[in-house]
Amino acid sequence: VASRLPGVGTTIFTVMSRLAHECGAINLSQGFPDFNAEDLLFERVAHWMRAGHNQYAPMAGCLPLREAVAAKVEALYGTRYDVESEITITAGATQALFTAVTACVRPGDEVIVFEPVYDAYVPAIELAGGTPVRLQLAAPDYRPDWAVVATAITPRTRMIMINTPHNPTATVWTRADLDHLAALTRNTGIVVVADEVYEHIVFDGATHASCAAHPELADRSFVVSSFGKTYHITGWKVGTIVAPRELMAEFRKVHQFNVFTVNTPVQLALADYMTDASRHLGLAAFYRAKRDFFRDALAGSRFELLPSRGTYFQLARYTGISALGDAAFCQHLTREVGVAAIPVSAFFADGRDDRIVRFCFAKNEATLSAACERLLRV
Ligand code: PMP
Ligand code: GLN
Repeated sequence: VASRLPGVGTTIFTVMSRLAHECGAINLSQGFPDFNAEDLLFERVAHWMRAGHNQYAPMAGCLPLREAVAAKVEALYGTRYDVESEITITAGATQALFTAVTACVRPGDEVIVFEPVYDAYVPAIELAGGTPVRLQLAAPDYRPDWAVVATAITPRTRMIMINTPHNPTATVWTRADLDHLAALTRNTGIVVVADEVYEHIVFDGATHASCAAHPELADRSFVVSSFGKTYHITGWKVGTIVAPRELMAEFRKVHQFNVFTVNTPVQLALADYMTDASRHLGLAAFYRAKRDFFRDALAGSRFELLPSRGTYFQLARYTGISALGDAAFCQHLTREVGVAAIPVSAFFADGRDDRIVRFCFAKNEATLSAACERLLRV
């Protein structure tokens, strides 16, 4: 068949979750919580459904939710985005990212991404006719090398896609990183897409360096987030994108034709739920406790744990355990040990294999305990 994505198979998250299910393994692969959101959130959805809010929302999203997002972003990052022209509610971060790329990238444009790279970015670039330019982040620190970024920028560079806190490495960028990015993109016409879906999950006193908090970068950035991560509802697929008016106008030209609008009662419920800021402000402490629990439980294992400074992921090197490649090792872990993880080579185009796997610790302590009990035996 004529394929636009000949090199693309099924996403690793689907592959590993399916295998975990087939094997009855504890699923620490795909990133999602195994605990429920608060009842109040469900009550608000039911409320708005019963009240008759079951038809199309405005194309940009329900106004109360855009207002709540504007207030949150201003409170946290100091930038006021206009609710009419600079904020759009999306079908998850995935659609926001895809639509931003589709809206801006033309055939022949280059888009810089950093590997390990979240698997949705490169196919979006390729479908738009763009050329991905992959820069490498290296274990264990996965720091960007700004001198290398400088040499990768050409007159064809149209976009740079960044992700902090970073999936899968659990690293976080600093304000200094954003300063470098700002300096390198000054007067270039390059658009930044900042995937900040884990914005509220940073540990150890670090603060999230948002492009929305960097006045110069905010002027040329799409900033993406997801309610899935923040409120433990990955299956609802609702996200946000904010950007200056000119960029958002381009975004909406595409958005209106690929989704048009997002689930109305869910948006209204989220607007209600967002009024209590402790719900997102408390997330870092909530996940820090899980990270510490998971790391402590694995302390006596033969896995070498890399730092986890943000997100709900933990990387582990297994060279002291097995000589298998990471994909084979994850198959073995799932089938024989009963714990599913993600091979980090899946985030590299050339399959670079550092013998590192990713665990998701967005789980109840009982789940983490049971998984660690198994992982201690390998
Ligand atoms: N970006 C990153 C870095 C992610 O980890 C995820 C999902 N876990 C997404 C985007 C997609 O988010 P959503 O489920 O809201 O589409
Ligand atoms: N982003 C989630 C992860 O990294 C998975 C989402 C998906 O399955 N596409 O595990």
